[in-house]
Amino acid sequence: MTKSELDKYKGVLENKQAELARVVRNRDGIAIEKSPDHLDEVQHATERELAIRNLDRDSNLLRSVRGALHRIEDGSFGVCLHCDEDISPKRLAAVPFAPFCIQCQELADRSQSSVGDNADEWFLNAA
Ligand SMILES: [Zn+2]
Repeated sequence: MTKSELDKYKGVLENKQAELARVVRNRDGIAIEKSPDHLDEVQHATERELAIRNLDRDSNLLRSVRGALHRIEDGSFGVCLHCDEDISPKRLAAVPFAPFCIQCQELADRSQSSVGDNADEWFLNAA
């Protein structure tokens, strides 16, 4: 990958990182909002649950974006973390923070879908 390509991805990722960091910070306020009214409380609980799910997703995304920026720094950007093959330029253009090539990502999605649900449940119970 050329220096100018890397710079382009770096710019895209830095923008994404700033945007996600802002969203995650703002959601913190919503997630802890409390109301004395019981009906409101139920409504808020639902909203809070939704906010936590979104927050969880955005936090994960933010982590991926940061990881990609880190890989730009250490020179491993664009290489699949799992199989060490180059990630296709087409995939990077669509998902610049992708840590895996499309084959490994599909494998990970399939094997992690149940784990992901459990982790989510654990997260909600812990909250
Ligand atoms: Zn791979």
